[in-house]
Amino acid sequence: MLKQTICNHIVSLTEVRTPQAYVCEECVKTGSSWVHLRTCQTCGITLCCDSSPNKHATKHFHRTGHPVVASAEPGERWLWCYVDEQMVSY
Ligand SMILES: [Zn+2]
Ligand SMILES: [Zn+2]
Ligand SMILES: [Zn+2]
Repeated sequence: MLKQTICNHIVSLTEVRTPQAYVCEECVKTGSSWVHLRTCQTCGITLCCDSSPNKHATKHFHRTGHPVVASAEPGERWLWCYVDEQMVSY
């Protein structure tokens, strides 16, 4: 039985955006590096995770309010909502 209620941000997604390139677009600009990648489900930009030095995906959420990211790591199929702090596999 599904115990968690999926938040409206994730429920309202019609499709999962996948990365256009497997790089953090902000890190590339500054010549920095990253650990894992996340793709914003609102605008489609791919940015780095909280294990990375620059935490660009989280900064993007704080700057834009775009609530949901998907893992951009090959083989990982989950979404994360920053507002509700909820992870959902798909
Ligand atoms: Zn949410
Ligand atoms: Zn980055
Ligand atoms: Zn975005």
